[in-house]
Amino acid sequence: MLTSKIPLRNAQGEITGLVGVTRDITPFKQVESALRASEAAALAFQERLKVLYEVSLDLARIPTFDELCRAGVDLGRERLGFDRLGIWLLDSQPEFTTGSFGTDEYGQTRDERGMRLPLTDQYKSVLRDLVEHSNYYFSDNAPIFNDRAETIAIGQKAMVMLSDGHTVIGTISADNLLHGKPITQQDLEILVLYGSTLGYLCARKRAEEALLKERNLLRTIIDILPDRIFVKDTQSRLMLVNKASWTHTPNVGGEEEMIGMTDSDLLPAEMAEEIYADEQALFASGQPILNQEEPGRDYEGNPIYFLSTKVPLLDTQGNVIGLVGVSRDITNQKQTEQQRLELALQKERLELLTEFIGNMSHDLKTPLSVIKTTLYLMERLDDPVRQEAKLQVIKEQTLRLEKLIQDVITMSRLEHGAKPIFEPVDFNALILDVESKLRATAERKHLDILFNLDEHLPLLPADENELWRLMANLYENALHYTPEHGTITLTTYMVDKQVVAEVQDTGIGIGADDMPHIFDRFYRADPARSLERGGTGLGLAIVKRIVELHGGEIIVQSDEGKGSLFRVLLSIRD
Ligand code: ADP
Repeated sequence: MLTSKIPLRNAQGEITGLVGVTRDITPFKQVESALRASEAAALAFQERLKVLYEVSLDLARIPTFDELCRAGVDLGRERLGFDRLGIWLLDSQPEFTTGSFGTDEYGQTRDERGMRLPLTDQYKSVLRDLVEHSNYYFSDNAPIFNDRAETIAIGQKAMVMLSDGHTVIGTISADNLLHGKPITQQDLEILVLYGSTLGYLCARKRAEEALLKERNLLRTIIDILPDRIFVKDTQSRLMLVNKASWTHTPNVGGEEEMIGMTDSDLLPAEMAEEIYADEQALFASGQPILNQEEPGRDYEGNPIYFLSTKVPLLDTQGNVIGLVGVSRDITNQKQTEQQRLELALQKERLELLTEFIGNMSHDLKTPLSVIKTTLYLMERLDDPVRQEAKLQVIKEQTLRLEKLIQDVITMSRLEHGAKPIFEPVDFNALILDVESKLRATAERKHLDILFNLDEHLPLLPADENELWRLMANLYENALHYTPEHGTITLTTYMVDKQVVAEVQDTGIGIGADDMPHIFDRFYRADPARSLERGGTGLGLAIVKRIVELHGGEIIVQSDEGKGSLFRVLLSIRD
């Protein structure tokens, strides 16, 4: 009660009595104490929110999902003041729930990861309710279970979702079995917040672990592959390499050593520059490099070969931020290919040799049988004149044999390793010498020999003996295949640092069908005509080989019935 009293006075001011008022203030008192209580509750709630924030920071630092669940139960009890807490996770199979960590009847954290229970209808309906309507479930007289799912008491129980905002991953539940302290509205609100904090952290940790698992899986896969797999940044620095990359790289003991390296740290400068240029082109164009052969070095420094494919690595905006590459060691493959090629070459050589021997034996047999028959006839002849004629035949055939053997020896020497001895040669003088040595034939056939020699011709680096043989073979052919009173022109001149020599005749010429074969060994367009003058069919094959050994070129122009032109081009550079 609130009472007020004032004195009552008469006209002279003397006190004659009092006037009093009394008021019942019970309702005001009640409001005041309620205000105080709610102020205290707000302060306490604020305090618990602060602790919740600190707890969430501690939980965020926990490395694994399981440890996070265990700490969630521990810290919820120790720091947030809950009695018993337990976490159950939704199983990958929809009808089950899996244990995580809980609290036993003595207040100790219990590992319940081995527990798996079918979802009861009640649990399912609570879960549905939590997802669809309310933030929490609360019951005043719920059954309290032990770890064998046996009811050990009836008491207060609350449950909230563990969720990252999208996916429900489980529930966290609290009861008051240990201390019997009632679960307050504030407890429920803190539990809801704790559930969402822990749920977010759990979901994040699970995603991290799934990523890590996937990363490890990929790492294992790329490490067992025999090909080299690597990632490079746009400076061509290695950012990732698989095991095959570093185990096969000389002077490198592990992946860490290779990270940050470029090819210039691993390969000779020239090789590295070439690879770098190709990769820079990839970064600029965004175009992949497919199955490109690249050089490398093995532990002994021997060259090895790779077949590389490189594709651009893009960021989420589609910018090129590097490349992913795979390189296959194809050294063995290349060696096998090389061996196969060499084998094919050997086979071809063998076939050629067999053909060569076949041709040669035929060419040897003919003069030999002529000699044999002539000798037989000679023995039976008494007439010295006729004997002399036979002797002449034997002489011719012997010369033919000698020429054939000589040409075969020359061919074989030129084919197998003869190294020409280069020295400055006066080409004009050489041509004049050839002509003078064969002048008798020209005169016998009344041929006109014209000279068109460039007197400023420089000295030519060449093997003089071989060059003599070359010009002699061409000139001999011209002499032979040109009918009497024909003309042979010998020309020399310079074109673009090349000395050119031409032997032109007004002879029978070469038919278009024969043209592709005239440089083949033992090829004769007209065997009878060739044999008539003791031709071996090796003359032009020898010419071609000598030109090749000098790095030169030979060109033939011919008009059947009109004549032929053989042009030899030799470089004066050495
Ligand atoms: P051969 O010893 O038969 O002359 P070559 O190898 O020197 O052998 O020449 C091959 C063939 O090319 C000759 O048989 C001939 O048919 C043809 N040939 C070469 N030179 C001439 C030429 N100046 N005129 C016409 N045919 C030629």
